[in-house]
Amino acid sequence: MTEIITILNQKGGCGKTTTAVNLSAALASMGKNVLVIDMDPQANATTSLGIKKNEIDNTIYTLLTGKCSYVDAIVETPTPNLYAIASNISLSGAEVELSKEIGYPYILEEKLERDMVDFDYIFIDAPPSLGILTLNALVVSDSVLIPIQSEFYALEGMADLIKTINLVQTRLKSECPIKGIILTLYDSRTKLAREVSENVEEFFKDTEYIFKEKIPRNVKLAEAPSHGQPGVVYDPECAGSKSYIQLAKEFLKLNGDEINV
Ligand code: ADP
Ligand code: MG
Repeated sequence: MTEIITILNQKGGCGKTTTAVNLSAALASMGKNVLVIDMDPQANATTSLGIKKNEIDNTIYTLLTGKCSYVDAIVETPTPNLYAIASNISLSGAEVELSKEIGYPYILEEKLERDMVDFDYIFIDAPPSLGILTLNALVVSDSVLIPIQSEFYALEGMADLIKTINLVQTRLKSECPIKGIILTLYDSRTKLAREVSENVEEFFKDTEYIFKEKIPRNVKLAEAPSHGQPGVVYDPECAGSKSYIQLAKEFLKLNGDEINV
């Protein structure tokens, strides 16, 4: 059974795309068939996966607007077992276009024929807003992962995010529980990072799972997209990659799933 997970946080720069790309690539290296759906018009996940965003015809935009099928929208990436539905700037007009459709939160659910291709996991890299694209992602998702950057304003906006998830449940009748919280851009040497970590633990006390593995700030992870590769492929031995591989193992354990290779 395919599990669909949205990487969500309306804050920009908190590591959503880096997490979507590297967690997916790490799981792919463990023998899982993984699809990344890039729902952000900035298309950073697309680029990071080694896809030339301006050279492909079928994207999440053409899928949502009915110009291609789900299967036709899927492209291979250079990383084995890792596939993508790409994005590009045309997606930026989609919010307005989709808002005119009846039942607009359900368009992705209608288009995504989840049993057509046998993926173990589908990760949706959400845009930095709680708009129509994010609603579409949440409706189709089985769960949500929230990356939180280890900085002073880490929890700002978290109440809105949780409210949105709850509204999807009550108004749109679609369950998408929070699967876990991932601390990103973590620098264990700083007092601030440790304080943020404590605040996050306090905030989600008794309610949500917080991944033990914290993703360190690591320059190789930031460099990798310019080489069109996930960090875990670009430099598997760097501290950031090792951390994402550990996160993938923790994710599988949480899921009661196993490494295949
Ligand atoms: P979002 O998708 O939430 O906007 P990104 O994943 O694009 O966030 O990360 C924002 C910026 O920070 C990018 O330039 C990215 O390369 C960098 N970055 C993300 N995570 C790390 C990390 N662990 N170490 C170093 N740089 C990182
Ligand atoms: Mg992003």
